[in-house]
Amino acid sequence: MNKKAYFGKFGGQFVPETAMFALAELEKAYESIAKTPEFKAELDDLLKNYVGRPSPLYHAKRLSKHYGHEIYLKREDLNHTGAHKINNALAQALLAKKMGKTKIIAETGAGQHGVATATAAALLDLECDVYMGAVDIARQSLNAYRMKLLGANLISVEDGLKTLKEATTAAIQTWVNEIESTFYVIGSVVGPHPYPLIVRDFQSIIGRETKAQLKEHGVKADYIIACVGGGSNAIGIFHEFLSDESVNLIGIEAAGLGASTPYHAATLTKGREGIIHGMKTIVLQDKYGMIEEVHSISAGLDYPGIGPEHAHLHDIKRVKYEPVTDDECINALKLTTRLEGIIPAIESSHALAYLEKLCPNLKAKSVIVVNVSGRGDKDIDTIMNYEKGKIYG
Ligand SMILES: *Cc1c(COP(=O)(O)O)cnc(C)c1O
Repeated sequence: MNKKAYFGKFGGQFVPETAMFALAELEKAYESIAKTPEFKAELDDLLKNYVGRPSPLYHAKRLSKHYGHEIYLKREDLNHTGAHKINNALAQALLAKKMGKTKIIAETGAGQHGVATATAAALLDLECDVYMGAVDIARQSLNAYRMKLLGANLISVEDGLKTLKEATTAAIQTWVNEIESTFYVIGSVVGPHPYPLIVRDFQSIIGRETKAQLKEHGVKADYIIACVGGGSNAIGIFHEFLSDESVNLIGIEAAGLGASTPYHAATLTKGREGIIHGMKTIVLQDKYGMIEEVHSISAGLDYPGIGPEHAHLHDIKRVKYEPVTDDECINALKLTTRLEGIIPAIESSHALAYLEKLCPNLKAKSVIVVNVSGRGDKDIDTIMNYEKGKIYG
């Protein structure tokens, strides 16, 4: 067993033999290319001048007053393309280019990772195929069109529930068939080793910046909160703080209509050990081991698995994971918009919603950082429809 491939008992490489070659090639390229000073300098330059990093750590004074604690927002919503996903997509696309690949492929749920990947492909002159479930294309039509404008081929996946899970399966299948020329850009800390490690490394810049920015503000974080779909923005901000036990880390899962109803995506709250998309992790499954349907107002959190490192951090109780419902999310979105003039993505609003539960129970005045993983412009239709009583856009 390749120990490096595991976080505790989770992770691994549960893929067909043909993909093992590509994973080994990727692991080697990652070590020999991505860790060189030249690659890092090129990536840093793009992150600064193209993405707009560092993203601010903003002291949200009106939210702070409202909750009676010091609330800081890590503004990943201000990145080029509007979310944290570009950090990883750009880095993987740059790695693909350096490996001599001519085409990148990606799966996407909300469309954010597809847009980020199509953006990186345009910038770096790579061919790009994006797999997206037909249902997601319908509910995120602006992002779908954006990808086409960027020059990507958008491939509508018509299997099963026609959402992220099926899109991911289709992308993996294509990758296995075209492994020589194609680089698979995975959008979260999921999939077979070494993807969860690579994506975590590329997103860890969020936490490194946050640590330095907290120092500039002259404060120390007591709590850091982030929403969890696959888990990349959460691991991105958590990783730098994992060894400091005085910082409480909280991951927020999408509870849809409620974690006790059948309509949710609260993987760690309700799932159990299983295999999905090449990794051993916690999976929402029925008693026969069939992967269950997931529901959330947020296409970006609508995933029945979770990154293996989160499954491990949950296991060893270093990170707490809590569910937040659609209703709670929308209330938090509105509050943040009204009090701060910031419209957060509905994914990020799940993390903001937890302030409502956390703050009243804290004894001393605390410093709380919330990772605002993305902006809500893409979600305006969904919010409007939700208000009209039409769930899920
Ligand atoms: C995709 C997405 C997420 C969920 O993905 P993670 O890998 O869990 O971070 C969260 N927020 C936004 C804005 C997204 O686009």
